[in-house]
Formats: sequence, structure tokens, C-alpha cells
Amino acid sequence: MIDTNRLINLFLELVAIDSESGDEREICDFLKQYLSQFTKDIQEDNAGASFGGNAGNIIARIKGNAPAPRILLNAHMDVIAPAKGVKPVRDGDIIRSDGSTTLGADDKAGIACILEALNAIRGHSLPHGDLLVIFTVSEEIHLKGAHALDPKHLDADFGFTLDSTGVAGDIITSSPSHDTIAARVFGRAAHAGMEPEKGTNAIWVASRAIARMKLGRIDSETTANIGIIKGGRATNIVPDQVEVTGEARSRNLEKLDAQIAHMKECLETTAAQLGATVKVGVQREYMAYKHSEQIPVIQHAVAAAASLGLEPHFISSGGGSDANVFNERGLPTAPMGAAMQNPHRLDEFLNVNDLAGAARFTLALVHAK
Ligand SMILES: [Zn+2]
Repeated sequence: MIDTNRLINLFLELVAIDSESGDEREICDFLKQYLSQFTKDIQEDNAGASFGGNAGNIIARIKGNAPAPRILLNAHMDVIAPAKGVKPVRDGDIIRSDGSTTLGADDKAGIACILEALNAIRGHSLPHGDLLVIFTVSEEIHLKGAHALDPKHLDADFGFTLDSTGVAGDIITSSPSHDTIAARVFGRAAHAGMEPEKGTNAIWVASRAIARMKLGRIDSETTANIGIIKGGRATNIVPDQVEVTGEARSRNLEKLDAQIAHMKECLETTAAQLGATVKVGVQREYMAYKHSEQIPVIQHAVAAAASLGLEPHFISSGGGSDANVFNERGLPTAPMGAAMQNPHRLDEFLNVNDLAGAARFTLALVHAK
């Protein structure tokens, strides 16, 4: 019932629309127009306005025609930069970018699967319960769109987020909590050639602190990274300031708190030892969840997989998604494999057979039998 050609063409059309985080205006308009063939109940909130983006989240409702659970289908509209002027290249069953941009299968594969499932429902007059479709903005910037969404919109029994690597039947049952740690190290400026002894090099202090940190994979459920360093003005000035920004994630909150405390301690102790000062800020971006295999959202996904003859795979993810926010707000939501591979990289790609499989799985989630 999934029309593979229509699905692939829709995917190619979506990735050709520029939609880096905060710049979702064009794709938002395209999607509202596309959804209007299924329902008149389409809203756009003002999420973008709250953080400087040019579009809001789309909330669309499609009335059910059969007794069935009320289901949320969710994906995000923004893509990881660089993604301006994406030129998708078809190579047999593989679609990739030309190498100068990401492909944006994260998360346009998810959007295409949801829209094609709606096409199939309508085209074949299939029975389904009430459907809630939420396409968010700026998911890639710490889930800003989902955080800004008014929780009153989350009126469904459970939800599925089409935003994960993996294929049809891959069901994400847990995801970590995620903290951002941002530090500013203050030293003392001085002329690097004439009186360097009067300065305190903030970059040197920060690098000593980072060198002491446990980073990378900490254990099976905990990771940490320093991702950004910004500082310095000229080679002839001993730098008096540097910003260090990183993150830690864990599916175990105690371990997350311990890792963040460790990173903070490395910065503070090192700064004190080397005559600098440091200001450290920690922000909790989103909370972990862990779904039992027995709860309705997971059981529903298992039944959908079985209806397609697929073996369900339960996966613990190291990444976050809009599902973290929806779960925190009380709507049980699970991410599903949506065919994307190597997301957040220039060699991101997708196999069209996996895309068709994920669309069939999305349809099985909403097709009431
Ligand atoms: Zn994504």
C-alpha cells in the first residue's frame, strides 16, 4: 500500500528544501500545504519566535474513522548544517548528498514516512484512530521546538518519533539524560613578546584542565565530550579568556551528575592551581526515559512489527530526540528506526529499501485492524 516511487520522490523533494535549524520557514509552509490534503485542522505555534527561528512547530489532527488508540506521529523539520542547497545523488538503491552537505535524511526520512503513511491511509480508505502529527523546529539545537510546544497539544494515548538510525522494527526503549557544561576561564592579558610573565594564559589553563578530564565513552550508559573551544585575539597577546563547551549524557542520572561534577572539578582545581579563575554553568537539556517492553506504546510497536513479519529489536540509544520531551511531559513516546545512516555527517546516506520499510512500518502503526 506504500507507493515507493511517491515516497522516494517526496523524500528527494524534502531534502532539496533548505531547512537548517532556525530556518524552517520554507519547509514549514511546504508541509502545511501538503498536510492540507488530509485535514483542515493544522496549526503552527510560535515556537521559533521564542528563540529567534523563523517558523513554529506544526500540529495537525486527523480524525479517526475506527476505534483505535489516539496516536502521535512526530518528526523534526530542521537538519544539521551544512545543508544549504542539498543535491541528492541517487546511486542504485542508495541516496547520498554530493559530499558538500549533509543529506538531511535526519529527519526528512521520518517526515516522508509519516506523509506516505497518510497518503496510503487516505488512498486506500484504511481504518485508523485519531492521529496527531507534530513536526517540530530546531530539534537539533537541544530540542528547542519540542520544549517550546504547549503541552496541551500532546493529547494522544502514545506516540512514535520517526527519528532514529536503524530500520523497520527497531524500537528505541531508552535514551539518556543530557547536560551541557559551559565554562569561561579567565586569565590575565599581557604582551606575549615584551612581558609574558605578567600574563596568565587562559587557553593554556583550559587545555590543562581538559587534558585531566575523562572524556569519550565513560561506561556502557555514559558519554562525555568537549566540543567547542573559543578564545584568543592575536598571537602576540597572552589570552585572558577562553570559552570551553561540552556535554555529558547518561541513562543513569547519578552517573551523569558524577561525570559533570568531575568535569567541573577539573576546571576549577586546575584554574586555582594555575592562577586563573573559572565560571562553570551546567544546563540539563533533557531527561532520560526507559520504557518497559510491557507498556502500551511498546506493545503497539511490537504488534505492528509482527503484522509485517518483522522481529522487533529493542534498542538503548545514546542520543536524544523530541521523544525525551514528550515522555517528560507525560505522553509515552518511542522513537522508531527511520532508515537514516551516518546522520550529522557529510557522508550521511539512506537505502531506499530501508526507507520503504520504515514507511510500511509507520503505516502499520496507524492502520487499525
Ligand atoms: Zn534527528
